[in-house]
This record gives sequence, structure tokens and C-alpha cells, in this order.
Amino acid sequence: PQPSPDLLVVQNLGISFGGLKAVDGMSLTIRRGGISGLIGPNGAGKSTLFNLIAGYHRPTTGRVWLAGEDITGLPPHVLFGKGLLRTFQIAREFSTLTVRENLMMVPGGQLGETWLGALLRPGRVRAEERALRARADEILEFLQITHVAGLPAGGLSGGQKKLLELGRTMMVDPKIVFLDEVGAGVNRTLLYAIADAIRRLNKERGYTFCLVEHDMQFIADLCDDVTCMAQGRCLARGTVETILSDEAVIAAYLGR
Ligand code: ADP
Ligand code: MG
Repeated sequence: PQPSPDLLVVQNLGISFGGLKAVDGMSLTIRRGGISGLIGPNGAGKSTLFNLIAGYHRPTTGRVWLAGEDITGLPPHVLFGKGLLRTFQIAREFSTLTVRENLMMVPGGQLGETWLGALLRPGRVRAEERALRARADEILEFLQITHVAGLPAGGLSGGQKKLLELGRTMMVDPKIVFLDEVGAGVNRTLLYAIADAIRRLNKERGYTFCLVEHDMQFIADLCDDVTCMAQGRCLARGTVETILSDEAVIAAYLGR
């Protein structure tokens, strides 16, 4: 059979916090190999939707499929193994580790991480560490931040931390990455670097992206299609142009 063009399908997803329906019957499809945008006013439920999809919250309604497989409610590390991951609005670097070490931390489950493994198989541990390091260095080069490889990650600028977040996703060669405000608070130069990295990862390595961003120029430059969320629901979906001229979308942004 033909593979479906949709890599991710979200149907009627919902979760409440107390009485508040943060995500309220949200449906969404993400095309394989595309870059999709998700916009909406503050509090619309975008980050919560990402949390539901990436396994950080369990939905109370609805289902999520990845490449036809029902992945609803699976925990983040399992989804990670399936190539589905998200970055966070606030970068979560290990601030005292170097930038390179931050990348090398990612894959996890390595033999070298247990003292027993280290005692039993020192040669193998060193080989794994060399492979991880080589991969980290390749990513630093791709992102053009080789010059900060040995610096503590906590000392990076906001934009460099966002690039590091993107780099961490590259360590596992993901299928689909959810980027939550990867450009927020980032200066113009680094914003272009981030947009360029996303575009190249999409074109050259086939990563599918879904990104939340407030900068409409950023969205317009990168995204094939845009979904607008408001009050936990899908308000409209289309090209950037149609969405930005949609009356319901404009009203949601103006708070009516
Ligand atoms: P967005 O990312 O679109 O700005 P969020 O998904 O962060 O919106 O939030 C949607 C709504 O859910 C907001 O009203 C927010 O206060 C609420 N919310 C999000 N996470 C939690 C939580 N863990 N506990 C309680 N309320 C939450
Ligand atoms: Mg958010």
C-alpha cells in the first residue's frame, strides 16, 4: 500500500487542568517531510498540545498516531525512541556541562553510563564515547557553533541555547520534531541561523517539523501550512496568507 502522506494524525485531543480545558478536542494532521506552523494567542493551548503529543501529559480524550501507529499516552522516552521529540519554550540545557557534553548526554542508555558497564567493557565504552563525540562535533559544525563546543552551556546567549536545543534533537536523527518558540527572544542574526538549520534539516535529512512561533515572518519563510489554535481548539488551517487574513484568526488575536 501507498504510505500515507500524513506522518502524524491528532484526533479530538483534550486535557483539562482543574476546570480549564487547556486543549479541547484538537485535531491536526502533519504531512511527512513538511514544515507545519502552529500559531495562536497566548494561552491557546499550543505548548500543552505539544506536551500531549510528545508524552509529557496524558490526554483525557482523543488519539495520536505516528506513521499509522497509535502512540496515545506513550511516555516521552518511548516516543523519543520512535523519533518523535519536542523542544521546550525555555531551553533546558545542563548549564555546568560544556556544549559538546550537552549533546553527548542525549542518547542515553549507553553502557558507559553505568559503573558496571564501565568496569566490564572499558574498550567498548571508549569506542561509544568516541562515536558520540564525533556525532556531537558534526552537529556543532552543521549549526556553526563549533567555537563554543568547550564552553559551559549555561554561558551561551539565548539564541545559542536554542541552537543547542535543536542540536540535541539531531543526536537521535528524529522523524518529527516539535519546536516550541525556538525563535523567541533570539536576535535577528541567530534567528536566521536557526531558520536556516531547520530548512536544511528538512531538505537534506528529511526531518518533519511542527513549530510554534510568534514571529509571522519566521512562519511565512519556513512553513508550508499553518494551523491556528484558540481556546484549545483548531480555529483555522491553510497557507500563511489565508490564515493571516482569516477573520476568526484576527478576532482571536484581538481577544474577541
Ligand atoms: P500557549 O502555549 O498556547 O500559550 P499553554 O498550552 O501554555 O498555551 O496553556 C494553555 C492553558 O492551559 C493556559 O490557560 C495555561 O495557563 C494552562 N496550563 C498549561 N499548563 C498547565 C498546567 N500544567 N497546569 C495548569 N494549567 C496549565
Ligand atoms: Mg506556549
